[in-house]
Amino acid sequence: MVDSEQDTVARLERATKTFGTGDAAVTALDDATIGFRRGEFTAVMGPSGSGKSTLMYCQSGLDRLTSGRAFIGDVDVSTLTDQELSVLRRSTMGFIFQSFHLVPALNARENITLPVDLDRDAEVDEAFLDELAVVLGIEHRLGNLPSQLSGGQRQRVAVARAMMPRPEVIFADEPTGALDSKTSGELLTYLRTAVDDLGQTIVMVTHDAVAASHCDRVVYVQDGRLVDEGRNPTVDDVLGKIRELS
Ligand code: ADP
Ligand code: MG
Repeated sequence: MVDSEQDTVARLERATKTFGTGDAAVTALDDATIGFRRGEFTAVMGPSGSGKSTLMYCQSGLDRLTSGRAFIGDVDVSTLTDQELSVLRRSTMGFIFQSFHLVPALNARENITLPVDLDRDAEVDEAFLDELAVVLGIEHRLGNLPSQLSGGQRQRVAVARAMMPRPEVIFADEPTGALDSKTSGELLTYLRTAVDDLGQTIVMVTHDAVAASHCDRVVYVQDGRLVDEGRNPTVDDVLGKIRELS
């Protein structure tokens, strides 16, 4: 399952993460080697507790591996200090979680540009902001406060905020986990559009077969191990694979 390193935005090499010690030790990630290619939308699938979030956290440097290496581009994140890591995260990665935490006192536009505004060296690219707003269907909502937006609109603002700094890669952990199926479908369509129209690279952790079916590639995690993968999965492909694995 090792991709060529060419055009690989993020990769894990023999990555292992163990929580606890002795009898209580849990190997959440077990000798995982994988790469994520530029411009690709990848689903990381597996049952609850299989190690999906651990994979994402260790890949992005939000958590540290017990052994092995995690690269963002050419940078081995395990060699960085916490401060260097947060600079790397800010400049190269975007995150989408189940909860979005928009700043209530800032309007949609200000929420979207906040990470760029906080970065002394960066300037807001207004043309890109306009393009993002159109892609996400919030171009008429940029002046509104979060309290004046629907749940789906708030979530699209959070997606725009993750995309605004043009991160090398967006990591999403169960982004549809708390959504009804309509809103979930909309979010997945927007993420798909970001990949197709803007060349965004996305790694999305999910246990939802419908979510995975929007992706170019799906990798399956079981007991911390990468056990299989497929391309252009249908919902039936994913459900079949899950049955086979369980
Ligand atoms: P998933 O995201 O697939 O549900 P996780 O990566 O969250 O799985 O967890 C994988 C395994 O590691 C589980 O057995 C979980 O209980 C354990 N685990 C995760 N985080 C911690 C932690 N901070 N301390 C102890 N065990 C943990
Ligand atoms: Mg998880």
